[in-house]
Amino acid sequence: MLLLRPDPLPAETLESFLIRLAELYGYTPKQLIERFHIILDEKDQKLSGALPGNLSQLNIYHANTSSAIRQKCLELLAEHMCKHRLPIIELAVSRSKFRYGAGHRSLLWQGLDIPRYFMRRGCIPVCPRCIEEAAYVPFYWHLRLVRACYRHGCMLVEQCPTCSKQFDYVSLGNFRECSCGRSFASMPTDMAPESFQLLAAVVQGKKVDEISASTSNLLFQLGDVHQLFGAILWYYTYAAPRGPHRTLSNATITECISFFDEWPCRLYTLLNEKIQTAIMLADRPCSDIPFNSIFGNLLLVSRRLPENFLIANPVLKAIFAFLDECLHADDERSEIGYSLLNGYEVATLLDTDSEQVASLSDKGYLPMAKKLKHNARFNPRRPLFRLEATFNVWVARHQCRRSNRHIYLSRW
Ligand SMILES: [Zn+2]
Ligand SMILES: [Zn+2]
Repeated sequence: MLLLRPDPLPAETLESFLIRLAELYGYTPKQLIERFHIILDEKDQKLSGALPGNLSQLNIYHANTSSAIRQKCLELLAEHMCKHRLPIIELAVSRSKFRYGAGHRSLLWQGLDIPRYFMRRGCIPVCPRCIEEAAYVPFYWHLRLVRACYRHGCMLVEQCPTCSKQFDYVSLGNFRECSCGRSFASMPTDMAPESFQLLAAVVQGKKVDEISASTSNLLFQLGDVHQLFGAILWYYTYAAPRGPHRTLSNATITECISFFDEWPCRLYTLLNEKIQTAIMLADRPCSDIPFNSIFGNLLLVSRRLPENFLIANPVLKAIFAFLDECLHADDERSEIGYSLLNGYEVATLLDTDSEQVASLSDKGYLPMAKKLKHNARFNPRRPLFRLEATFNVWVARHQCRRSNRHIYLSRW
């Protein structure tokens, strides 16, 4: 049993904490994990086999089959490895049942639901100036959205200036120096663009007025970091240019931040272009065209960002405002009222599920634009409901305190 343990540092990762614990006793991380296995063997041999032998697979969310067993291993170690309880469960990242948008998985770290896609794999960049002040790794460097250090105003460094190797302190088992021996603290840094610094700050829960003058960018005004995750994930899945090399690069993040400038101008430009294209391609007005052939999966990816209520989902709120404006426009945009939603899209607009949509339709509250064959089962994938009729059902029956027309109309 170990007598002493380090205290975790602010937002420290489990891996960083274990590296410091190993250092305290002159072990490598691998040797520390061997000690873990000895403790587990004593307590429960079945569990010992469930703990991997290397640091990069140790965290709970890496467990392939049962993260409950991994959790149990870490609980046992937390209690018995050290004289004082080790805070390893508190630092671990586990799986979350929450899904963003159309079904993006998420991970849970210290009460935050983080889209799994945002977790870096392999390369974990560092801020040499932070390492100079305190040698450890904060969790935020694992997030792809964090490209800069807002405290030092510099870009995170991904690659060694001496040997060009990409950093991965977890597989290296070391956050003080690169495998070539060059210390992180001695590495030069580049100034980061202000937008990257702001983004890094808000991801870490800082309010923009604490750090910078006002900005009209939606991303920097959100009250909750989950809304920020939701909005960026939405941009990436819906609005970002497609292509074989689509990834969250510096360029994509720059483009994403500028998309949310003067919100919702760029969104409305994008949606108006889609309407114009649909009108150009159709030989008759939008009548009987599936809504998703005009707008793609707009409604489905705009759910759960992280909520469905308009008051807490600024992206969906702007989309409702846009559709409402189109439906009541004096020009050809009002044609989209005749486009057809499928059951899942109706469920998004009404904030319900597809069974409820079937029931609303059965009871005659929600008219179908096409008659089903006698005895045909309701298929939520089929576009059957006019946008305008569905919108009217929402206005008449499905508004609530946290999701109503006033929430977006009051802006005008
Ligand atoms: Zn720093
Ligand atoms: Zn190197």
